[in-house]
Amino acid sequence: MAVEYTHEEQLQDAIKTLRETGVRITPQRQAVLQYLIEHHTHPTADEIYKALASQFSNMSVATVYNNLKVFKETGLIKELTYGDAASRFDFDNSNHYHIICSECGKISDFHYPRLDEVESIAEHITSYAVTHHRMEIYGICPECQSKKKK
Ligand code: ZN
Ligand code: MN
Repeated sequence: MAVEYTHEEQLQDAIKTLRETGVRITPQRQAVLQYLIEHHTHPTADEIYKALASQFSNMSVATVYNNLKVFKETGLIKELTYGDAASRFDFDNSNHYHIICSECGKISDFHYPRLDEVESIAEHITSYAVTHHRMEIYGICPECQSKKKK
């Protein structure tokens, strides 16, 4: 049975983690964190800025980005890089994979634990000391599929 882990509890735990590593919690910082917890859309710094700017007169894309860097350094969030495109940020730092819509750019999560084995297989075959792996799946999301049908 899954135990409900509310957004508020996630926020309080994240704040606790930040405090323990000596990070000061400003209202802006807390708002960025809260946005990431409530929106599993893998937003860019720019998207977060646009959503929150009206609440903070002194907010800029640069301050949002700096906050994201701090969260990343404490291991709270993951940064997803896709070539030259802007980085996206993911509050879920569990091992999971992403499927990306080629039409609208939406990114959805899925888990596939069986793939963990690929690291030990790669290590065994190549004698490299494997650190991590990444994989992305591309396709057309359900929303874009139904738009096409119309
Ligand atoms: Zn789509
Ligand atoms: Mn994700």
